[in-house]
Amino acid sequence: MMVTDDRKALVLFSGGQDSATCLAWALDRFEHVETVGFAYGQRHHVEMEIRPRAREAVAAAVPGWQARLGNDVVIDAGVLGEISETALTGDVEITMGENGLPTTFVPGRNLLFFTLAGAYAYRRGIRHIVSGVCETDYSGYPDCRDETVEAMEKVLNLGMEADLILETPLMWIDKAASWILAERLGGAALVAAIIEETHTCYEGDRGHRHDWGYGCGACPACDLRAKGFAAYQSAKESVDG
Ligand code: ZN
Repeated sequence: MMVTDDRKALVLFSGGQDSATCLAWALDRFEHVETVGFAYGQRHHVEMEIRPRAREAVAAAVPGWQARLGNDVVIDAGVLGEISETALTGDVEITMGENGLPTTFVPGRNLLFFTLAGAYAYRRGIRHIVSGVCETDYSGYPDCRDETVEAMEKVLNLGMEADLILETPLMWIDKAASWILAERLGGAALVAAIIEETHTCYEGDRGHRHDWGYGCGACPACDLRAKGFAAYQSAKESVDG
């Protein structure tokens, strides 16, 4: 049995709003936090360029967090781009597919990411693997379901004789609640860092600045982020007022 360190966490970090919130959640809880990203032939390279800055910005939001932030690694998962034709990896329009899922769904993606993260955490002796998957408002991606993650944890621990824990702090909250969580963890500084330095837009647009951050403003990811931010703002106003 591989005994991993309970004080250590590995965050699946893409540079988006959700993974940035997860990184903050981990930095708040664990003494040592590492990050892992995946290159899988994303159509836009913005995500990869944004990652290091977003990581630093989150860690800089709260005194003490920078000292907890450890290694970052980007794992090549390019094989996903080779075997799937989706709107995120190929030149496919973002629409509803015949399977009832958006064409942004990359079959097997999160399953592969959890497996690679699990293998990496095992090697680094890290117990907690933190991911921003969420069942609440995620277009029904089946690999974001709580049941999938629970099964994955069981498979990893069986298959590697390990004691890994898959953490999903965003599983049951919506986008507005994610902003509220960020504010609770790191105050206005963290909210500002997430707005400024994270990237969510499917179109890779960094040219248009909105009150919720950068993006095309029209794709489903921007739409979700904009609506969540607006709901967060009005929740704040009703509390403040
Ligand atoms: Zn967009």
